[in-house]
Amino acid sequence: MARIIVLDKYTADQIAAGEVVERPSSVVKELVENSIDAGARRIAIDIEDGGLSMITVSDDGCGIEGDDLELAFQRHATSKITSTGDLACIYTLGFRGEALPSIAAVSKLTVTTRTHDAMTGAQAQIEGGALVAMVPAGAPPGTTVTVKELFYNTPARRKTMKSPATEGSLCGELVSRLALARPDIRYEMRVKGRDVFYSAGSGRLADAATAVYGAAMAREMVPLNFTEEGITITGMVGKPSISRSTRNHITLVINGRYVRCTPVTAAVEAAYQTLLPQGRKPVVILSLSIPPELLDVNVHPAKLEVRLLEEEKMAVLVKRALLEALRTKALIPSAASAT
Ligand code: ADP
Ligand code: MG
Repeated sequence: MARIIVLDKYTADQIAAGEVVERPSSVVKELVENSIDAGARRIAIDIEDGGLSMITVSDDGCGIEGDDLELAFQRHATSKITSTGDLACIYTLGFRGEALPSIAAVSKLTVTTRTHDAMTGAQAQIEGGALVAMVPAGAPPGTTVTVKELFYNTPARRKTMKSPATEGSLCGELVSRLALARPDIRYEMRVKGRDVFYSAGSGRLADAATAVYGAAMAREMVPLNFTEEGITITGMVGKPSISRSTRNHITLVINGRYVRCTPVTAAVEAAYQTLLPQGRKPVVILSLSIPPELLDVNVHPAKLEVRLLEEEKMAVLVKRALLEALRTKALIPSAASAT
C-alpha cells in the first residue's frame, strides 16, 4: 500500500462534485433552490442539449455582494447556517455550501449578480473550479448563473449521460416539481429559446397543478386540507380515474422542499390500495408542514432523500388525510376508509 496523503483541492473538489452533481437536472435543482433561498419571485430556466451544453438560471432574488462572490465558490461557504446547532432547524433549501463549488468544478460557469442596493453588479467566470475572471458588470438586481459544457473535464461521468432528450426531460420534470412545491413563485422554462413550461406564481396550488398536468387532469384532482398534532397536510389528490403506471406522479413537499421519502410515498399508495387496480399509481401532490426538528435533510449531499423522525406516525396521518379527502368528495364509500 502507498503512504497516506491529503488529496489536493482540485481532486477533493472533483470527488465532492460527483455526489452533488449527478446530471444536468441536479444542476437545475441546486441553482433553482439557491434562487428560492434568495427570495426570488421569478425564476427563469434555459437549457440546451438537455442541459449538457448549457443551463442558465436567472432570478430576481437578493443577489450576492460583489465582495462575497469569490467566497460563494469555496466549498463549505454558505450564508445560510453558522453552526451544527442550525442543522436541527433548517429553514432554507441549501445549507451545505457545496453546490456552487461543485458545479463550478465540473463545468465552465459564469455568474452575474447584483444586490438591490449596489450601484453595479459583479461577474465571475470559473472553469473547472479555477477562477478565470472577476469583473464589475452591469446587471439587473438578482442573479444569473450560466453553466456550460457540464462534465467537460470528467469524461467518465459525461459518458454515463443519457440522450439530450432524456436529460432535458429530467430537467423539465424537476422544474415542474419545484413549481408544485412553490406555487407562489413564477417559473418559466425554455429549451433552446422555445417556451416549454410556465407557472404563473399565483400562490394557488391548483394553478401550478394546471401548469404541470394541464387543465383536464387538474380538474380530476381534489384539494386536501388536514391538520392534526401540529402537522398540516395540504395538496391535491388525484381521482382514481387519472392513475398512472409509475409512482413518478406522487410529488412530496416537506416544509417547502421537494423531497423523496419512501415511507410517506408508501402511505400514499396504501391509501389508494383498494381504489386502484394492481400496478396503478395515484397522481398526488402532497405538502407537509412539520416542525423542522422532525425532518433530517442532511442524509445525502443532493438533499433529495430525507428522513423523518416519528415516521410511523407521519405515515398514519398521511394515509388518514388522503382517505378523508377522497371520502369527502364521495369518491369512495366511507366503509372502505374505515382503516
Ligand atoms: P448553499 O446554498 O448550501 O449555501 P451554495 O454553494 O449553493 O451553498 O451557494 C453558496 C452561497 O452563495 C449561498 O449561501 C448564497 O449566499 C450565495 N448564492 C448562491 N446562489 C445565489 C442566488 N441565486 N442568489 C443569491 N445568493 C446566492
Ligand atoms: Mg445551494
